[in-house]
Amino acid sequence: MSRVYNFSAGPAVLPEPVLEELAAEMMDYNGTGMSVMEMSHRSAAFQKIIDDAEQDLRDLMNIPDNYKVLFLQGGASQQFAMIPLNLMKNKVADFIVTGQWAKKAYQEAQKYGKANKIASSEDKTFSYIPDCSDLPVSPDADYVYICENNTIYGTKFKQLPDTKGKDLVADVSSCFLSEPVDVSKYAIIYGGVQKNIGPAGMVIVIIREDLIREDVLPGTPTMLTYKTHADAGSLYNTPNSYCIYVCGKVFKWLKGLGGLEAMKRMNEEKAAILYDYLDQSRLFKGTVVKEDRSLMNVPFVIGDKDMEAKFVKEAAEHGLVNLKGHRTVGGMRASIYNAMPKAGVEALVAFMKKFEEENI
Ligand SMILES: *Cc1c(COP(=O)(O)O)cnc(C)c1O
Repeated sequence: MSRVYNFSAGPAVLPEPVLEELAAEMMDYNGTGMSVMEMSHRSAAFQKIIDDAEQDLRDLMNIPDNYKVLFLQGGASQQFAMIPLNLMKNKVADFIVTGQWAKKAYQEAQKYGKANKIASSEDKTFSYIPDCSDLPVSPDADYVYICENNTIYGTKFKQLPDTKGKDLVADVSSCFLSEPVDVSKYAIIYGGVQKNIGPAGMVIVIIREDLIREDVLPGTPTMLTYKTHADAGSLYNTPNSYCIYVCGKVFKWLKGLGGLEAMKRMNEEKAAILYDYLDQSRLFKGTVVKEDRSLMNVPFVIGDKDMEAKFVKEAAEHGLVNLKGHRTVGGMRASIYNAMPKAGVEALVAFMKKFEEENI
Protein backbone atom coordinates (compact mmCIF):
# COMPACT_ATOMS: atom_id res chain seq x y z
CA MET A 1 0.00 0.00 0.00
CA SER A 2 1.24 3.42 -0.82
CA ARG A 3 -0.62 6.57 0.14
CA VAL A 4 -0.03 9.90 -1.57
CA TYR A 5 -0.38 13.42 -0.21
CA ASN A 6 -3.66 14.45 -1.80
CA PHE A 7 -4.11 18.21 -2.20
CA SER A 8 -7.50 17.90 -3.94
CA ALA A 9 -10.07 20.64 -3.29
CA GLY A 10 -12.80 18.02 -2.95
CA PRO A 11 -13.59 15.21 -2.57
CA ALA A 12 -10.51 15.43 -0.49
CA VAL A 13 -8.16 13.77 1.97
CA LEU A 14 -9.71 11.98 4.96
CA PRO A 15 -7.95 11.26 8.27
CA GLU A 16 -6.07 7.95 8.08
CA PRO A 17 -7.21 6.75 11.53
CA VAL A 18 -10.80 7.19 10.33
CA LEU A 19 -10.16 5.27 7.11
CA GLU A 20 -8.62 2.45 9.15
CA GLU A 21 -11.64 2.25 11.44
CA LEU A 22 -13.96 2.18 8.44
CA ALA A 23 -11.99 -0.70 6.97
CA ALA A 24 -12.01 -2.57 10.27
CA GLU A 25 -15.78 -2.20 10.60
CA MET A 26 -16.63 -2.93 6.98
CA MET A 27 -17.66 -6.57 7.38
CA ASP A 28 -19.23 -6.33 10.82
CA TYR A 29 -20.21 -3.02 12.35
CA ASN A 30 -20.28 -3.31 16.12
CA GLY A 31 -21.60 -6.88 16.26
CA THR A 32 -24.44 -6.31 13.77
CA GLY A 33 -22.86 -8.70 11.25
CA MET A 34 -23.16 -6.15 8.46
CA SER A 35 -21.60 -2.95 7.24
CA VAL A 36 -23.28 0.39 7.85
CA MET A 37 -23.98 0.54 4.10
CA GLU A 38 -26.23 -2.50 4.40
CA MET A 39 -28.13 -1.36 7.46
CA SER A 40 -31.70 -0.02 7.66
CA HIS A 41 -31.78 3.68 8.38
CA ARG A 42 -34.68 2.86 10.74
CA SER A 43 -32.59 0.43 12.82
CA ALA A 44 -31.55 1.11 16.40
CA ALA A 45 -27.91 0.76 15.39
CA PHE A 46 -28.23 3.49 12.78
CA GLN A 47 -30.29 5.75 15.05
CA LYS A 48 -27.40 5.70 17.48
CA ILE A 49 -24.94 6.54 14.70
CA ILE A 50 -26.91 9.62 13.60
CA ASP A 51 -27.67 10.73 17.16
CA ASP A 52 -24.01 10.47 18.15
CA ALA A 53 -22.93 12.31 15.00
CA GLU A 54 -25.28 15.17 15.74
CA GLN A 55 -24.25 15.37 19.39
CA ASP A 56 -20.54 15.32 18.57
CA LEU A 57 -21.04 18.09 16.01
CA ARG A 58 -23.01 20.11 18.56
CA ASP A 59 -20.19 19.65 21.07
CA LEU A 60 -17.49 20.62 18.58
CA MET A 61 -19.24 23.77 17.34
CA ASN A 62 -21.05 24.68 20.56
CA ILE A 63 -24.31 24.78 18.62
CA PRO A 64 -27.02 26.55 20.64
CA ASP A 65 -30.23 24.64 21.44
CA ASN A 66 -32.34 26.84 19.20
CA TYR A 67 -30.52 25.56 16.11
CA LYS A 68 -31.35 22.37 14.22
CA VAL A 69 -28.72 20.21 12.56
CA LEU A 70 -29.84 18.65 9.27
CA PHE A 71 -28.01 15.99 7.26
CA LEU A 72 -29.27 16.45 3.70
CA GLN A 73 -28.49 15.29 0.17
CA GLY A 74 -28.11 17.33 -3.00
CA GLY A 75 -24.77 18.81 -2.05
CA ALA A 76 -24.05 22.42 -1.28
CA SER A 77 -25.41 23.39 -4.70
CA GLN A 78 -28.93 22.30 -3.80
CA GLN A 79 -28.87 24.80 -0.95
CA PHE A 80 -28.48 27.58 -3.53
CA ALA A 81 -32.21 26.95 -4.27
CA MET A 82 -33.37 25.60 -0.93
CA ILE A 83 -32.30 28.71 0.98
CA PRO A 84 -34.34 31.21 -1.09
CA LEU A 85 -37.30 28.82 -1.32
CA ASN A 86 -37.46 28.65 2.47
CA LEU A 87 -36.23 32.09 3.55
CA MET A 88 -37.39 34.56 0.91
CA LYS A 89 -40.50 35.80 2.66
CA ASN A 90 -40.11 39.31 1.21
CA LYS A 91 -38.54 37.84 -1.93
CA VAL A 92 -35.39 39.91 -1.42
CA ALA A 93 -31.88 38.76 -0.56
CA ASP A 94 -28.47 40.43 -0.65
CA PHE A 95 -25.33 38.68 -1.88
CA ILE A 96 -21.64 39.34 -1.38
CA VAL A 97 -20.07 37.79 -4.44
CA THR A 98 -16.53 36.66 -3.65
CA GLY A 99 -16.19 33.76 -6.07
CA GLN A 100 -17.84 31.19 -8.30
CA TRP A 101 -19.83 29.52 -5.54
CA ALA A 102 -21.28 32.76 -4.20
CA LYS A 103 -22.06 33.77 -7.78
CA LYS A 104 -23.91 30.53 -8.42
CA ALA A 105 -25.96 31.00 -5.26
CA TYR A 106 -26.70 34.60 -6.32
CA GLN A 107 -27.79 33.51 -9.79
CA GLU A 108 -29.99 30.70 -8.47
CA ALA A 109 -31.75 33.02 -6.03
CA GLN A 110 -32.74 35.26 -8.95
CA LYS A 111 -35.19 32.53 -9.95
CA TYR A 112 -37.18 33.03 -6.78
CA GLY A 113 -37.01 36.73 -5.99
CA LYS A 114 -34.89 39.83 -6.12
CA ALA A 115 -31.25 38.98 -5.53
CA ASN A 116 -29.00 42.01 -5.03
CA LYS A 117 -25.25 41.94 -5.42
CA ILE A 118 -24.23 44.36 -2.66
CA ALA A 119 -20.47 43.76 -2.91
CA SER A 120 -18.13 41.84 -5.16
CA SER A 121 -14.43 41.18 -5.73
CA GLU A 122 -14.82 40.05 -9.31
CA ASP A 123 -12.88 43.12 -10.58
CA LYS A 124 -9.65 41.48 -9.41
CA THR A 125 -10.42 37.81 -10.12
CA PHE A 126 -11.81 37.38 -6.59
CA SER A 127 -8.35 37.72 -5.07
CA TYR A 128 -9.58 39.65 -2.02
CA ILE A 129 -12.57 40.07 0.30
CA PRO A 130 -14.38 43.39 -0.18
CA ASP A 131 -14.82 45.83 2.69
CA CYS A 132 -18.06 44.76 4.38
CA SER A 133 -18.19 47.29 7.18
CA ASP A 134 -20.84 49.55 5.60
CA LEU A 135 -22.75 47.66 2.94
CA PRO A 136 -25.87 48.91 1.12
CA VAL A 137 -27.99 46.22 2.80
CA SER A 138 -31.58 46.27 1.46
CA PRO A 139 -34.08 47.38 4.11
CA ASP A 140 -36.40 44.49 3.20
CA ALA A 141 -33.71 41.82 2.68
CA ASP A 142 -34.67 38.43 4.06
CA TYR A 143 -31.00 37.62 4.51
CA VAL A 144 -27.45 38.50 3.52
CA TYR A 145 -25.50 35.68 1.88
CA ILE A 146 -21.77 34.94 1.89
CA CYS A 147 -19.44 32.15 0.90
CA GLU A 148 -17.12 32.31 3.89
CA ASN A 149 -14.13 30.49 2.42
CA ASN A 150 -13.67 30.66 -1.33
CA THR A 151 -12.39 27.25 -2.33
CA ILE A 152 -11.34 28.23 -5.84
CA TYR A 153 -9.72 31.59 -5.09
CA GLY A 154 -8.28 30.91 -1.65
CA THR A 155 -9.83 33.84 0.22
CA LYS A 156 -11.57 33.79 3.58
CA PHE A 157 -13.72 36.29 5.46
CA LYS A 158 -11.64 37.00 8.59
CA GLN A 159 -14.47 39.10 9.92
CA LEU A 160 -18.14 38.56 9.23
CA PRO A 161 -19.89 41.35 7.28
CA ASP A 162 -21.97 43.92 9.08
CA THR A 163 -25.43 42.85 7.90
CA LYS A 164 -27.12 45.76 9.69
CA GLY A 165 -29.30 43.42 11.67
CA LYS A 166 -30.29 41.13 8.80
CA ASP A 167 -29.90 37.37 9.05
CA LEU A 168 -26.59 36.04 7.79
CA VAL A 169 -26.44 32.87 5.67
CA ALA A 170 -23.00 31.34 5.07
CA ASP A 171 -21.66 28.59 2.86
CA VAL A 172 -18.74 27.14 4.83
CA SER A 173 -18.16 24.07 2.64
CA SER A 174 -14.40 24.47 2.49
CA CYS A 175 -13.75 25.75 6.02
CA PHE A 176 -16.27 23.66 7.99
CA LEU A 177 -14.71 22.69 11.36
CA SER A 178 -11.36 24.28 10.50
CA GLU A 179 -11.61 26.68 13.45
CA PRO A 180 -14.12 27.68 16.16
CA VAL A 181 -17.17 29.68 15.04
CA ASP A 182 -19.92 31.50 16.90
CA VAL A 183 -22.98 29.78 15.44
CA SER A 184 -25.31 32.35 17.01
CA LYS A 185 -24.04 34.95 14.53
CA TYR A 186 -25.58 33.02 11.66
CA ALA A 187 -29.13 32.25 10.60
CA ILE A 188 -27.91 29.34 8.52
CA ILE A 189 -24.41 27.93 8.35
CA TYR A 190 -24.05 25.08 5.88
CA GLY A 191 -21.58 23.16 3.82
CA GLY A 192 -21.03 20.18 1.59
CA VAL A 193 -19.01 17.71 3.64
CA GLN A 194 -16.72 16.44 0.88
CA LYS A 195 -14.25 19.31 1.34
CA ASN A 196 -13.23 19.34 4.98
CA ILE A 197 -15.25 16.60 6.71
CA GLY A 198 -16.23 13.41 4.92
CA PRO A 199 -17.12 11.72 1.64
CA ALA A 200 -19.18 13.33 -1.14
CA GLY A 201 -22.97 13.27 -1.20
CA MET A 202 -24.12 15.21 1.81
CA VAL A 203 -24.56 18.73 3.10
CA ILE A 204 -24.90 19.69 6.75
CA VAL A 205 -27.28 22.58 7.42
CA ILE A 206 -27.28 24.27 10.81
CA ILE A 207 -30.37 26.45 10.91
CA ARG A 208 -32.00 28.66 13.52
CA GLU A 209 -35.35 27.18 14.48
CA ASP A 210 -37.51 30.22 13.71
CA LEU A 211 -36.49 29.92 10.04
CA ILE A 212 -38.00 26.45 9.80
CA ARG A 213 -41.55 27.13 8.73
CA GLU A 214 -44.44 26.00 6.62
CA ASP A 215 -45.01 29.21 4.67
CA VAL A 216 -42.27 28.59 2.15
CA LEU A 217 -42.54 29.84 -1.45
CA PRO A 218 -45.47 28.25 -3.32
CA GLY A 219 -44.47 25.15 -5.26
CA THR A 220 -41.49 24.32 -3.02
CA PRO A 221 -41.03 20.55 -3.19
CA THR A 222 -41.53 18.63 0.06
CA MET A 223 -37.94 17.45 -0.13
CA LEU A 224 -36.67 21.04 -0.41
CA THR A 225 -38.55 22.25 2.66
CA TYR A 226 -36.39 22.45 5.79
CA LYS A 227 -39.38 21.61 7.97
CA THR A 228 -39.76 18.20 6.32
CA HIS A 229 -36.28 17.20 7.40
CA ALA A 230 -36.25 19.01 10.74
CA ASP A 231 -39.49 17.30 11.84
CA ALA A 232 -38.11 13.89 10.86
CA GLY A 233 -34.64 14.24 12.40
CA SER A 234 -33.09 14.05 8.89
CA LEU A 235 -34.83 10.69 8.39
CA TYR A 236 -37.84 11.74 6.28
CA ASN A 237 -36.50 9.51 3.54
CA THR A 238 -33.36 7.40 3.29
CA PRO A 239 -30.43 9.68 4.11
CA ASN A 240 -26.86 9.23 2.97
CA SER A 241 -26.39 6.85 5.86
CA TYR A 242 -22.81 5.81 5.17
CA CYS A 243 -21.74 9.44 4.85
CA ILE A 244 -23.35 10.29 8.18
CA TYR A 245 -21.42 7.42 9.77
CA VAL A 246 -18.11 8.56 8.27
CA CYS A 247 -18.70 12.18 9.30
CA GLY A 248 -19.48 10.96 12.81
CA LYS A 249 -16.09 9.23 12.90
CA VAL A 250 -14.40 12.45 11.75
CA PHE A 251 -16.18 14.39 14.52
CA LYS A 252 -14.79 11.93 17.09
CA TRP A 253 -11.34 12.23 15.53
CA LEU A 254 -11.54 16.04 15.86
CA LYS A 255 -12.68 15.78 19.47
CA GLY A 256 -9.77 13.44 20.19
CA LEU A 257 -7.34 16.03 18.79
CA GLY A 258 -8.70 18.67 21.16
CA GLY A 259 -11.58 20.16 19.18
CA LEU A 260 -11.68 23.22 16.96
CA GLU A 261 -9.29 25.41 18.98
CA ALA A 262 -6.60 22.76 18.56
CA MET A 263 -7.54 22.28 14.90
CA LYS A 264 -7.20 26.01 14.28
CA ARG A 265 -3.69 26.04 15.75
CA MET A 266 -2.67 23.10 13.58
CA ASN A 267 -4.19 24.68 10.48
CA GLU A 268 -2.43 27.99 11.13
CA GLU A 269 0.85 26.19 11.59
CA LYS A 270 0.43 24.21 8.36
CA ALA A 271 -0.68 27.23 6.30
CA ALA A 272 2.25 29.32 7.61
CA ILE A 273 4.74 26.76 6.32
CA LEU A 274 3.39 27.20 2.80
CA TYR A 275 2.69 30.95 2.86
CA ASP A 276 6.07 31.79 4.43
CA TYR A 277 7.78 29.89 1.67
CA LEU A 278 5.63 31.52 -1.05
CA ASP A 279 6.38 34.99 0.32
CA GLN A 280 10.11 34.63 -0.26
CA SER A 281 10.12 32.37 -3.32
CA ARG A 282 11.64 33.74 -6.52
CA LEU A 283 9.64 31.29 -8.66
CA PHE A 284 6.23 30.82 -7.02
CA LYS A 285 3.77 33.52 -6.07
CA GLY A 286 0.55 33.42 -4.04
CA THR A 287 -2.48 34.98 -5.77
CA VAL A 288 -4.40 36.37 -2.78
CA VAL A 289 -3.90 39.58 -0.79
CA LYS A 290 -2.23 38.64 2.48
CA GLU A 291 -4.92 39.66 4.94
CA ASP A 292 -7.63 37.59 3.22
CA ARG A 293 -5.71 34.34 2.78
CA SER A 294 -7.50 31.08 3.44
CA LEU A 295 -6.03 28.51 5.81
CA MET A 296 -7.55 25.78 3.67
CA ASN A 297 -7.03 26.51 -0.03
CA VAL A 298 -3.77 28.01 -1.23
CA PRO A 299 -3.57 29.02 -4.91
CA PHE A 300 -0.20 29.95 -6.36
CA VAL A 301 1.31 30.55 -9.77
CA ILE A 302 4.63 30.59 -11.60
CA GLY A 303 3.28 32.67 -14.46
CA ASP A 304 4.52 30.33 -17.19
CA LYS A 305 2.01 27.68 -18.27
CA ASP A 306 4.58 25.15 -19.45
CA MET A 307 6.57 25.45 -16.24
CA GLU A 308 3.38 25.08 -14.19
CA ALA A 309 2.40 21.93 -16.09
CA LYS A 310 5.90 20.57 -15.48
CA PHE A 311 5.60 21.33 -11.77
CA VAL A 312 2.23 19.60 -11.42
CA LYS A 313 3.50 16.56 -13.30
CA GLU A 314 6.75 16.23 -11.36
CA ALA A 315 5.02 16.83 -8.04
CA ALA A 316 2.64 13.95 -8.81
CA GLU A 317 5.63 11.74 -9.54
CA HIS A 318 6.79 12.55 -6.01
CA GLY A 319 3.46 11.54 -4.46
CA LEU A 320 2.10 15.11 -4.21
CA VAL A 321 -1.11 14.92 -6.21
CA ASN A 322 -4.03 17.07 -7.36
CA LEU A 323 -2.10 20.35 -7.33
CA LYS A 324 -3.47 21.73 -10.60
CA GLY A 325 -5.27 25.01 -10.03
CA HIS A 326 -8.86 25.77 -10.99
CA ARG A 327 -9.20 26.65 -14.67
CA THR A 328 -10.32 30.21 -13.84
CA VAL A 329 -7.19 31.00 -11.80
CA GLY A 330 -4.67 28.77 -13.54
CA GLY A 331 -1.44 27.72 -11.90
CA MET A 332 -1.64 25.53 -8.82
CA ARG A 333 -3.77 25.13 -5.74
CA ALA A 334 -2.91 23.19 -2.61
CA SER A 335 -5.92 22.36 -0.46
CA ILE A 336 -4.61 21.68 3.02
CA TYR A 337 -7.73 20.65 4.91
CA ASN A 338 -7.92 19.37 8.49
CA ALA A 339 -6.92 15.86 7.43
CA MET A 340 -3.77 16.95 5.58
CA PRO A 341 -0.90 16.17 7.94
CA LYS A 342 1.81 18.75 8.59
CA ALA A 343 4.27 16.31 7.02
CA GLY A 344 2.32 16.64 3.75
CA VAL A 345 2.74 20.41 3.67
CA GLU A 346 6.41 20.06 4.59
CA ALA A 347 6.89 17.55 1.77
CA LEU A 348 5.21 19.95 -0.66
CA VAL A 349 7.39 22.89 0.37
CA ALA A 350 10.54 20.76 0.22
CA PHE A 351 9.61 19.74 -3.31
CA MET A 352 8.83 23.35 -4.31
CA LYS A 353 12.25 24.46 -3.02
CA LYS A 354 13.97 21.80 -5.04
CA PHE A 355 11.93 22.67 -8.13
CA GLU A 356 12.75 26.35 -7.68
CA GLU A 357 16.49 25.65 -7.45
CA GLU A 358 16.40 23.49 -10.56
CA ASN A 359 14.28 25.84 -12.65
CA ILE A 360 15.18 29.40 -11.85
C1 LIG B 1 -17.51 22.61 -3.59
C2 LIG B 1 -18.29 23.76 -3.14
C3 LIG B 1 -19.66 23.87 -3.42
C4 LIG B 1 -20.43 22.87 -4.25
O1 LIG B 1 -20.57 21.69 -3.57
P1 LIG B 1 -21.44 20.49 -4.14
O2 LIG B 1 -21.61 19.62 -2.93
O3 LIG B 1 -20.65 19.86 -5.24
O4 LIG B 1 -22.72 21.03 -4.63
C5 LIG B 1 -20.33 24.97 -2.93
N1 LIG B 1 -19.71 25.90 -2.19
C6 LIG B 1 -18.40 25.82 -1.90
C7 LIG B 1 -17.75 26.87 -1.07
C8 LIG B 1 -17.65 24.74 -2.37
O5 LIG B 1 -16.34 24.66 -2.09
